Amino acid sequence: MTEAAKNAKESAWYASPVEEALHDLKTHAGGLSMEDAAARLEEYGPNRLPDPAKRSVLVRFALHFHNILIYVLLGSAAITAALGHLIDTLVILAVVVANAVIGFVQEGKAERAMDAIRKMLALKASVLRGGERRAVEGDSLVPGDIVLLEAGDKVPADLRLLRVSSLQIQEAILTGESVPVEKHIRPVKPEAPLGDRVCMAYSGTLVTSGQGRGIVVATGAGTEIGKISGMLATVETLTTPLVRQMNAFAKWLTVLILLIAAALLVFGYVVGHADFAEMFMAVVGLSVAAIPEGLPAVLTITLAVGVQAMARRNAIVRRLPAIETLGSVSVICTDKTGTLTRNEMMVASVVTNLHTFALDGTGYEPRGAITLDNAAASVREHRILEELGRSAVLCNDASLHERDSVWHVEGDPMEGALLALSGKVGIDWRTELVTWTRTDAIPFDARHRFMAILNHDHENHAFVSVKGAPEQILAMCSAQRTAAGGTEPLVAEYWHARAEAIAAQGQRVLAFAVRPVDPAHTVLEFSDVEGGLTLVGLVGLIDPPRPEAIEAVAHCRSAGIRVKMITGDHRGTAAAIGRQIGLENPDRVLTGADLDAMGDAELSACILDTDIFARTSPEHKLRLVMALQAHGLTVAMTGDGVNDAPALKRADAGIAMGLKGSEAAKEAAELVLADDNFASIAAAVREGRTVYDNIKKVISWTLPTNAGEAMTIVVALLFGMSLPITPVQILWVNLITAITLGMALAFEPTEEGTMRRPPRRRGEPLLTGELGWHIVFVSALFLGGVFGIYTYATDRGYPVELARTMAMNTLVVMEIFHLFFIRNIYGTSLTWEAARGTKVVWATVATVTAAQFIITYLPPLQRVFGTHPVPFLDGVLIVAIGVALFAIIETEKQLRLRIWKLRSE
Ligand code: ATP
Repeated sequence: MTEAAKNAKESAWYASPVEEALHDLKTHAGGLSMEDAAARLEEYGPNRLPDPAKRSVLVRFALHFHNILIYVLLGSAAITAALGHLIDTLVILAVVVANAVIGFVQEGKAERAMDAIRKMLALKASVLRGGERRAVEGDSLVPGDIVLLEAGDKVPADLRLLRVSSLQIQEAILTGESVPVEKHIRPVKPEAPLGDRVCMAYSGTLVTSGQGRGIVVATGAGTEIGKISGMLATVETLTTPLVRQMNAFAKWLTVLILLIAAALLVFGYVVGHADFAEMFMAVVGLSVAAIPEGLPAVLTITLAVGVQAMARRNAIVRRLPAIETLGSVSVICTDKTGTLTRNEMMVASVVTNLHTFALDGTGYEPRGAITLDNAAASVREHRILEELGRSAVLCNDASLHERDSVWHVEGDPMEGALLALSGKVGIDWRTELVTWTRTDAIPFDARHRFMAILNHDHENHAFVSVKGAPEQILAMCSAQRTAAGGTEPLVAEYWHARAEAIAAQGQRVLAFAVRPVDPAHTVLEFSDVEGGLTLVGLVGLIDPPRPEAIEAVAHCRSAGIRVKMITGDHRGTAAAIGRQIGLENPDRVLTGADLDAMGDAELSACILDTDIFARTSPEHKLRLVMALQAHGLTVAMTGDGVNDAPALKRADAGIAMGLKGSEAAKEAAELVLADDNFASIAAAVREGRTVYDNIKKVISWTLPTNAGEAMTIVVALLFGMSLPITPVQILWVNLITAITLGMALAFEPTEEGTMRRPPRRRGEPLLTGELGWHIVFVSALFLGGVFGIYTYATDRGYPVELARTMAMNTLVVMEIFHLFFIRNIYGTSLTWEAARGTKVVWATVATVTAAQFIITYLPPLQRVFGTHPVPFLDGVLIVAIGVALFAIIETEKQLRLRIWKLRSE
């Protein structure tokens, strides 16, 4: 086809019968072959939207000069140049460039980290290739592929629908219409607008219910969304509400400092009659000293480090504010299957009208022993097992493959286990699937808790097979299958009792029922299965708890975080798993029906002490989140289905499952778990707490450092003393030294005992009275140290250059010791662990120390910065001052921690 013909065709896929699409795209209902798909991928390229246009490197670098402080510095450089202080001008310019380069490099790193994380969320698609269902990367789809859709999926390319079953798709992203559209396969008029093309499914839209399959007709930039993607591309900036607040605070602080600096300039010049040039340089030094210019860059990198750390622990952050929220989570509501348990299912028991069989085996291998009362049972003597096995195959969307002698499931693990069961009872599922054709289906939905399939064979037989939660299925049955293959009236009490008994062992229970229908019947309605079914049997599936989840639940408990399990499973199963996993109150279970019967006040009264909610539907999740939030708790909620989206959105931290979760859930969530594992949630909370602590550490280190430096100049100016550190030296210390040291805090590992602290209160301010006190206390000590050594040096008759060099080095040494102190805000800094530091800390300390040696001892720099070599013993004295500062602030912290403890006891 020529390019023009292709375009013309594209607009008509929806106006012609589906057979035409199959023909034109040289494909068939079984999908492309693997080779064909690979060849087409070469031809059409990956199914990917073009990357949003990025700013050029030059523009991004230039933007680092777009900052109020840099303008102040550039202005100062111009004035110093006009005043003839060429060296000062050059230093200021060097400092400006260095600052921009550091910011640029860090920003680049942060962006790369975010890009890598975005890639981890790449879309997967279910396709038929070579006649088999396979999960492939969304970007490997090609025109002609047959894609399977189910509730919760994001449509991976533009599709001409081939088969639908109650398929509804929400197309708001393209049409703005949030009400889902019911899909059909019949062609529509050529002039139909996008929203009316009901036989198409467009890339990027969400399947809200039902199932379907379609032929890929356009990929990548050729899709409808691709055509408008330029309008949608938004580049997320690396920020969170807290960091934004901090940046706003830093801006206002800058303005305040500039006003103070201007006032001082006027005061010094008019009242103190100081030399203007000298005075001007002093206030430039003051401004640079006081303005926390490194803060935004360091906070950004702290977030980026946190996002990366979470990704390493399989928690992928979709919305950055989640990093902060996670740190304050006080209750985690989690799913059971796959999150607390492994989601590696195996049928362990089968119940028929007379017997309860036990099954053995390994993984999904369709072979294994069947026993009855501890003796081997023969399938031939129990024909009813075959009927159950047949239903298990037909009422199933999964497939099993053997690779390297290990059996793997494609699709729902529970259904995989049912295929394995069919093998164990002597059924060959491939033959069954050839004998019986699926004519229609009612897909599984957590709201009705069953699925039904209408089957026809080639000999004019037809029947419906249904599987689902036992309470649900029993209510739909009036008869039960006898061992001889006949029917008898249903004895519901027997089945309920058996279901309870299996569930109490932690097994998930499913019931199977059938109903013969007239072969002319080809459309399955709810009314076909609402009554008159014949129950064949029950199946109990084991799904062992994840050992790491048990450990993580214990960690959460010690961190003051309550864990609640919200499951669609049977109350008995839920209670048994809850006990195994170590939940606090495993015997108190509320079911969805209990919740429906309760008023809000009643729910509020018991929600805190109930940890297990069984047989719930997604609507209950929303209600539970709101009830917990009403108690002032910060709620993390997991979800996987399309109907979980409202609860995920409402929760403070919505967490979607990366493996079994639907795209709809991922889209609504703040965090996606790459491995669906509860342990990853606990790890994410730990990282969230670490990031918050590190932000706090960066601020607690930066603000007193800036205040201390600024106070040195202000005090000298106000008291008419000579400056103990020159403006150029202050510039050096602040812009080169401070930004490197402060940066080290962004990489701080988790403090010991982080998961033994209770969660921080909701809305706790970052700038607390305690931090205010720390700023005042440390800047006073900085002031004492700098003036102390300066006075000591001048008293001993040292030249003023040496006195200043000593004062500047004292300042840097105090900053380094302050850094070691800040690393442990919750515990003592006097442990081997604390003293050993981290590679990053030592690397920055070594860099800064080397830089200080160079500026102090290298003659050309001595000329630029007005420094003088410091004698050895005085050098020792400078370090001793650092040690003294550390001893004082550490003692003060210990006192404060003790007082807190006394108060809280
Ligand atoms: P969990 O919290 O354990 O992940 P869930 O909330 O996802 O559970 P659902 O998947 O909604 O639970 O399942 C609820 C019940 O519906 C199950 O206990 C089972 O009896 C039944 N069920 C689950 N999946 C299917 C299916 N594919 N076909 C028929 N019945 C099913």
